[in-house]
Amino acid sequence: MKNILDLTRQELEEEIAPKFRAKQIYQWVYQKGARSFDVMSNLPKAMREDLAQKYSIATPQILNVEVSKDGSKKYLLGLEDGHTIESVLLPMKKEQRDEKGNIIKEARYTVCVSSQVGCKVGCAFCLTAKGGFVRNLTPGEIVGQVLAIKEDNKIPANRRVNIVYMGMGEPLDNLDNVAKAIKIFSDENGLSISPRRQTISTSGLAPKIKKLGEMNLGVLLAISLHAVDDALRQKLMPINKAYNIESIINAVKEFPIDQRKRVMFEYLVIKDVNDDLKSAKKLVKLLHGIKAKVNLIYFNPYPGSPFQRPSEEDVKRFQKYLLDHGILCTVRESKGLDISAACGQLKEKSNACSI
Ligand code: SAH
Ligand code: SF4
Repeated sequence: MKNILDLTRQELEEEIAPKFRAKQIYQWVYQKGARSFDVMSNLPKAMREDLAQKYSIATPQILNVEVSKDGSKKYLLGLEDGHTIESVLLPMKKEQRDEKGNIIKEARYTVCVSSQVGCKVGCAFCLTAKGGFVRNLTPGEIVGQVLAIKEDNKIPANRRVNIVYMGMGEPLDNLDNVAKAIKIFSDENGLSISPRRQTISTSGLAPKIKKLGEMNLGVLLAISLHAVDDALRQKLMPINKAYNIESIINAVKEFPIDQRKRVMFEYLVIKDVNDDLKSAKKLVKLLHGIKAKVNLIYFNPYPGSPFQRPSEEDVKRFQKYLLDHGILCTVRESKGLDISAACGQLKEKSNACSI
């Protein structure tokens, strides 16, 4: 049976008649949280029965949740074929109430989604890489992560969240399905999440960055840079042999980006590997002429990991150098440190438990 979450509204319109029913189905599934066709009271009964014969509305199954002190929640989700993936709910802003206790501003959330089971890229610091690559996620499996998490947290179906493609997998290695998920998320009859609220994070597949740009979807781009010279980057991220730093920077320079927005460069700070001021200096040079924002991430160690967490002092010094040289730079204290929230870490734990 086909999962209806796999279909963009245009695709659904091609499969059913009359076309306008696709909008209604979208509204039911994404705005009213319907999980069966039976409840879609403005569709003719015969149509509801017909739809139920052909399609499922299948979201991944929640197998495990870990809640961090900072409020982020890490989910281990089961897919229909038994494989597991991870997604994280990150509270960004708390709700605000007036003195009478009425909500004046809703809470804001970001959901970090996976795009593949495993990953082919094989970065030395990443736990997801250890399990190798299994398969691409379908558009519905990407979209379903957000539906399952919203439901579990009683976030109303029609409330917008931000999306970051920073979970397991390399989104640009599954570009067709990720592009469909972007469209499904942004459909105004569905979740209505503007592409400007969706960030694709990539290890730097230069030709695919170009292709994504040509698709003109309007999404934001984050580059997992992590190193400023090719020799070191190659050691950390073998993909750098195929697409070196220069090729990535060139692809970024051509990428269409909203005038008000910036390309994000993620820099995983690893103790005694890339936490020195010489690297900071090189980074400033590299980003010359790009509307960039740097996000420094503390490396989050795991049992047996070959690297160590950097000192706060070194990270702050690195940040100060960038700021002093006119580069916007934030530090991300690995959210959910106590629940091992970097990609792949919950899955790995659950595997260890089942042995
Ligand atoms: N494959 C894509 C997106 C998923 S990886 C990419 O690499 O950009 C998501 C993020 O998790 C990456 O920025 C990566 O640097 C980070 N990450 C991986 N292992 C980590 C660890 N041990 N500690 C902290 N961040 C980690
Ligand atoms: Fe894949 Fe990203 Fe992990 Fe590298 S950091 S192995 S690209 S998921």
